[in-house]
Amino acid sequence: MAYRKIEIVTAPREPHFVGDGFRVHNFIPSGFRLDMERMNPFIMLDYGSKFHFPPSEQPRGVGVHPHRGFETVTIAYKGKVAHHDSAGNSGIIGEGDVQWMTAASGILHKEYHEENFSKTGGEFQMVQLWVNLPAKDKMSPPKYQGLTHDAINKYSLAGNAGVIEVIAGQYKDVKGAASTFSPVHLLNAKLNKGAKADFSFPMNFNTGLLVVEGSVVVNGEEAVKTDHFALFENEGEEFTVEALENAVVLILSGEPIREPIAAHGPFVMNTRQEIIQAFEDFHSGKFGTLED
Ligand code: MN
Repeated sequence: MAYRKIEIVTAPREPHFVGDGFRVHNFIPSGFRLDMERMNPFIMLDYGSKFHFPPSEQPRGVGVHPHRGFETVTIAYKGKVAHHDSAGNSGIIGEGDVQWMTAASGILHKEYHEENFSKTGGEFQMVQLWVNLPAKDKMSPPKYQGLTHDAINKYSLAGNAGVIEVIAGQYKDVKGAASTFSPVHLLNAKLNKGAKADFSFPMNFNTGLLVVEGSVVVNGEEAVKTDHFALFENEGEEFTVEALENAVVLILSGEPIREPIAAHGPFVMNTRQEIIQAFEDFHSGKFGTLED
């Protein structure tokens, strides 16, 4: 059987700060071959590689800003983040937790380091992924899914070799906790040294992996190092991931949404007219209110 091969492995770009709290390497859409069309339905992936923040009395982060037309998924590996939005939802996520926010018709939110984490400082490592919405769902009501580590279903590999945490979609017979608007698989593979796991996704699903910890070999032939992103070809379905040392790997696979993309800053719609409408609605207060 032919494996699904790696198309390209991308090293992390120079980091930049989002607000003063998120030091991130952008992979989607600015990475080579990782544009929105190619990665669809994944339209943005910012990766905050492990970084030590010194103590701060004033929590670092990003102040109130809008979103419309997609979902923001925050996956915490180290550190803690507090979220508040204009739909009245709030939550704190820490190591192993995931926050799945559906901005859809429009939301204001703010994202800061959690207060106690700020005071003590410490290691911080996160992913923020934007998942596009089908046109028919872009103006649906906002939604918030706070997934604690306990609530995320896990598949245990034989012989205590590791676990596959199913954030969304499915792995083998284990279903993900998050509900999605289009078919998306989002997995955290936590593999002990020497462990090997196999993955299979439909050929047309755009698929990649990010090595968050350790290093792995894919299909027994290609090494992917810490903080690197591997994009798979859309040929073949199955691939294997083997841990060269204890590893954590984020695996994403989604069915492309075959609709035009009009993206501007925090808004991702289908047409330029809808982007202009988003700015108008935002400026006329239709996204609600949220205190800074
Ligand atoms: Mn945001």
